[in-house]
Amino acid sequence: MMHLAFLVLLCLPVCSAYPLSGAAKEEDSNRDLAQQYLEKYYNLEKDVKQFRRKDSNLIVKKIQGMQKFLGLEVTGKLDTDTLEVMRKPRCGVPDVGHFSSFPGMPKWRKTHLTYRIVNYTPDLPRDAVDSAIEKALKVWEEVTPLTFSRLYEGEADIMISFAVKEHGDFYSFDGPGQSLAHAYPPGPGLYGDIHFDDDEKWTEDASGTNLFLVAAHELGHSLGLFHSANTEALMYPLYNSFTELAQFRLSQDDVNGIQSLYGPPPASTEEPLVPTKSVPSGSEVPAKCDPASSFDAISTLRGEYLFFKDRYFWRRSHWNPEPEFHLISAFWPSLPSYLDAAYEVNSRDTVFIFKGNEFWAIRGNEVQAGYPRGIHTLGFPSTIRKIDAAVSDKEKKKTYFFAEDKYWRFDENSQSMEQGFPRLIADDFPGVEPKVDAVLQAFGFFYFFSGSSQFEFDPNARMVTHILKSNSWLHC
Ligand SMILES: [Zn+2]
Ligand SMILES: [Zn+2]
Repeated sequence: MMHLAFLVLLCLPVCSAYPLSGAAKEEDSNRDLAQQYLEKYYNLEKDVKQFRRKDSNLIVKKIQGMQKFLGLEVTGKLDTDTLEVMRKPRCGVPDVGHFSSFPGMPKWRKTHLTYRIVNYTPDLPRDAVDSAIEKALKVWEEVTPLTFSRLYEGEADIMISFAVKEHGDFYSFDGPGQSLAHAYPPGPGLYGDIHFDDDEKWTEDASGTNLFLVAAHELGHSLGLFHSANTEALMYPLYNSFTELAQFRLSQDDVNGIQSLYGPPPASTEEPLVPTKSVPSGSEVPAKCDPASSFDAISTLRGEYLFFKDRYFWRRSHWNPEPEFHLISAFWPSLPSYLDAAYEVNSRDTVFIFKGNEFWAIRGNEVQAGYPRGIHTLGFPSTIRKIDAAVSDKEKKKTYFFAEDKYWRFDENSQSMEQGFPRLIADDFPGVEPKVDAVLQAFGFFYFFSGSSQFEFDPNARMVTHILKSNSWLHC
């Protein structure tokens, strides 16, 4: 007996060192990967034996939890999709459990915060790092009352640094790939700080790991947000390398999350819109004075005119004939671009924005809670997938919606679609091209925009009184 036991013991190291078959090896490495992933991000206790028991209820539950959170099919098994996601680059902050010891929701008790860039990555010029961080701060500044200023020495609320492997906290980095960065929730000392894994290849574009995107995500943690299971959200834990950077915007989920902690940005009655990004430049930027130029949507806003085109809009105020030009996302990060229609209801101090089968309500800089809503809630038939243009008559309190060759009329007093509609545009607005891009009401006229042409329509005479270039409003 003694002899046999000795043999078994002796065999152990030899046997385990003996090469396993390919399939068994792969299964082993998959199990290791899954174990580490669930330990790191799903609060699985470090217990190897338990994990080796394939049927362990706890493991199945953890896998299910991970699959549910990340939007995978919930099988409870280490299937191909699940293993693939486990290999993807992601934020190093756990999806569950990490902050569970924090009572309540951690948030800053002040609205002015300081940040400091402690060191730099060799991957990028310093000013590229500075501007990626500044851009990331603006993402959150635009939708909250928070403001940030930079410190060059001493202790800032948010200390930003690049580090590799073990770097002085309990969360070592893991070399290239997988964990890209992590950040701590609001609080003193280490809290609020952001660490980037400098074993990643940090880039300004999407060729490597985009520093702006990761910084914007990590700042969300620094401000008190946890991971979101919404795949559209910036706070979704997996790094999305496919994001079209120029079209980056926060999802409504992110905006709702951060505003639940800090509220919306303060509204000013004197100057409702605060430009927060510089005038964009680039080849795809629409040219204001191109004779062929057209608009997606036009609205008034507190006495100003907004002309929407692609991702941009021109803003014409009374005191400045030269219009300002901005990115839509610079004012309303959660709004889509390439809009269909927009109109203002003065009595409600609200601009409604339409795209596809959804619409949003904005007041100054602020997108209202509870939006987007479906356009069918306004009373459109289900065959209507989108509308082309809309305008609200502030005297008569009627809103007109144009879609293809028809229009509907909505009563703002009763908040309902009027009977007897739709009617043909050609019947009631003779002379106006059947396809309408945008409509504006001004000086007692309706201005219908169709491609590069604009039809001034006198509603009393029921006739077109002028045909103008669409961009006649833009000081061309
Ligand atoms: Zn994260
Ligand atoms: Zn760290």
